[in-house]
Amino acid sequence: MNSASTLLSCAIVFTIVARTLATTDSAYPSPYGVETTTTACNPYAIADDGLVPVRKEVYDKGRIFDISHRYHPNMPSWESEDGVGQFLWLPKSMKNGSLANNSEMKLPTHTGTHVDAPGHVFDHYFDAGFDVDTLDLEVLNGAALLVDVPRDKNITAEVMKSLSIPKGVRRVLFRTLNTDRRLMYTKEFDTSYVGFMKDGAQWLVDNTDVKLVGIDYLSVAAFADLIPAHLVFLEGREIILVEGLKLDDIQPGVYTVHCLPLRLLGAEGSPIRCILIK
Ligand SMILES: [Zn+2]
Repeated sequence: MNSASTLLSCAIVFTIVARTLATTDSAYPSPYGVETTTTACNPYAIADDGLVPVRKEVYDKGRIFDISHRYHPNMPSWESEDGVGQFLWLPKSMKNGSLANNSEMKLPTHTGTHVDAPGHVFDHYFDAGFDVDTLDLEVLNGAALLVDVPRDKNITAEVMKSLSIPKGVRRVLFRTLNTDRRLMYTKEFDTSYVGFMKDGAQWLVDNTDVKLVGIDYLSVAAFADLIPAHLVFLEGREIILVEGLKLDDIQPGVYTVHCLPLRLLGAEGSPIRCILIK
């Protein structure tokens, strides 16, 4: 593993501990994702009590698209063959006498659909505090263009030019071969994903008004240009990178995007919930 990709693989893990209402800590961990008949623990299991929650990708008769991936143990993780693995526990469990169920989670911040802050690839920005809490919500919310890029190559300057993204467009979600290959649904990390080459990133910075760059695998940058392309995008601290988007089955065109990262002080990445509205 080279040091550059190690850096990308998530410098920070965080733990969120739900506020506990329990009066006992005798409950023992009950891992999520383990074979179970309850739908709360395994969304794909059939409940035996007739209670079946509805899980949707599209809401309001096709008007609202959820473009975030669901977090689960088998989702891909940077340079891992085994996926994310268990990231949720239930240390306070009603089955074990707690007054309420209270989960804990521990997850690399660049897992699934997530955002990169400038501190991800610039250590002086990291030290100065350019974390996910400093990202501009105006950039992360507003009119956005969903475009299909040529399927046979990375996003180079030539490809960027061919897309003819109009001046004034500030948010673009790039759908690539990664979506066709369903890479975000594949447990094993795949270095053959497509993304921006350094010259493609530079072309975007020099010739467009795009400030939100979205892509459909774990990195906006192709593996061959991993750090160089990130540096080009993040150096100016104006462009925000959203990675791991779920762009299946949506017509290309103009939408309103809403993306909201967690306010993780000091973190250079965060899980992010993104939706598109027609
Ligand atoms: Zn990232």
